[in-house]
Amino acid sequence: MAPIDLLAIAAHPDDVELACAGTLLMARRAGKRIGIIDLTRGELSTRGTLETRARETEEASKILGLDYRFNLEMSDGNIELKQENLSLLIREIRRTRPTILLAPSKYERHPDHEAASELAHRANFYAGLAKIETKDDEGNLQEPHRPLLMLHYMQAYSFQPTVILDITPVFDERMRAIEAYSTQFGNKASNKAERETFLSQEGFFEWMRSRASAYGLQIGVRYAEPFWSPEPLGTSDLFSLVTKRIS
Ligand SMILES: [Zn+2]
Repeated sequence: MAPIDLLAIAAHPDDVELACAGTLLMARRAGKRIGIIDLTRGELSTRGTLETRARETEEASKILGLDYRFNLEMSDGNIELKQENLSLLIREIRRTRPTILLAPSKYERHPDHEAASELAHRANFYAGLAKIETKDDEGNLQEPHRPLLMLHYMQAYSFQPTVILDITPVFDERMRAIEAYSTQFGNKASNKAERETFLSQEGFFEWMRSRASAYGLQIGVRYAEPFWSPEPLGTSDLFSLVTKRIS
């Protein structure tokens, strides 16, 4: 398989769409290969069923134009930091060989997101160690691979971003990818009988739009997505850092 340039890891199908679909779409526009690893099928979700979630994930993947999406089928509500799960993720990182990895943030409202963050942190590092052996589908030893950059995307909890990416050109597509998970939201009459959740509460979409707009304004564009990195980020072109038209 040709390498996936930008790979996002998430606890549940819909996490990446909600947090950083715009960033994936921008990378695709730039000719990069993009992909998602979902750690679970989201089987504990209050709303919808496994079947509806699988259909919604397929639709969202089409809207995003993903080159790769894989589900590691860990147990929802119980993403354990055990060797078996770590090996599964290391194997996928070595198979997809991403340059940039996107992962959840360390502190999150949903404990699965925190567990996915820690698992991604460990797999990102250990995938680069040659003496940790994993095998591909044919039973051959995999080459070690460590992504060159790992960024954490924003979910329920906010943080001070290290970098903010302009997603204005793909904003409508990004919202369509989110809306593909229609059972999760409260804006459809057919969903009215379902139990209310964080995502289905009134004003959720307004929050999604206004958060993208709030970060956009900070860098002088209409819409943006924020990321955090524990390492400083470099550039070889200072002018590429100028996104504002008005100082
Ligand atoms: Zn989630």
